[in-house]
Amino acid sequence: MAQIIRDPKDWQRRCRTAREAGRRIALVPTMGYLHEGHLSLMREARARAGAGGLALATIFVNPTQFGPREDLSRYPRDLPGDLAKCESAGVDMVLAPEPGDVYHPLHESWVEVTGVSQGLCGGSRPGHFRGVATVVAKLLNLSAPHVALFGEKDFQQLQVLRAMARDLDFDVEIAGMPIVREADGLALSSRNAYITSSERGAALSLSRALFEARDRAARGERAAPPLIAGARRALEAAGVRVDYVEVVDPETLRPVAEVAPGSRMLVAGFVGATRLIDNVALIPGSP
Ligand code: AMP
Repeated sequence: MAQIIRDPKDWQRRCRTAREAGRRIALVPTMGYLHEGHLSLMREARARAGAGGLALATIFVNPTQFGPREDLSRYPRDLPGDLAKCESAGVDMVLAPEPGDVYHPLHESWVEVTGVSQGLCGGSRPGHFRGVATVVAKLLNLSAPHVALFGEKDFQQLQVLRAMARDLDFDVEIAGMPIVREADGLALSSRNAYITSSERGAALSLSRALFEARDRAARGERAAPPLIAGARRALEAAGVRVDYVEVVDPETLRPVAEVAPGSRMLVAGFVGATRLIDNVALIPGSP
């Protein structure tokens, strides 16, 4: 059975002992309400830790990455179900702490990644990536992993964390994993639990618009503006209140005018009250 640990300091002692004993440690940070996307990361963590290693997951709805008008208090939770899923994915140990045990009452230290945090979700969710980078820095310090795994679903988050590890000399590999989708294309997300059946078509339009842009790029459309305009039109027609549609360089996340190999289209929009994000790699084809 996957062992559940509540106290971060207890967790840190166990992780340090394991690392000193030469065991390989792979970490998957999550906010819980687990789905196949999370489990794909955990199975990869199990594989990367190897037989004698430790596959770790954390379940923590991190308050510092939510804005004042966001969904912190109603974020979906199911700890018993999550533990069973962690177990099924081969996780050895799960940290599920209370916010008061993660953040000292006098907490006053923050990790701020600049360039790549700005724009996109960073533009519409001020302070979000500061909260993410800070909690992940803490989880890396608590867990001492050799590798930490994150989904490309949150593509900007992945690049922010890569920049943080690079710039602050974290001795860890930040591994990105492909987006897991429903059969119809909808990217799995804990927030899909908010989507009603009448909103499903609008939610689906995100992946549809991205796939359409990917296909147009593959057929030879290299200019970003018409790809962006087409995706925006499709989202609006489906009833999505668009936050952004952009084509960006995959490392800097700066907008590009022309699609190049690895360029990424990222979208965010509101379906009813629910904010959804998705993205896809664009591969330019010849016309
Ligand atoms: P969250 O619980 O939303 O903070 O997500 C925890 C980790 O799971 C993050 O690294 C996410 O990028 C990743 N993740 C969430 N949804 C998916 C998905 N559909 N496919 C792959 N990874 C995902």
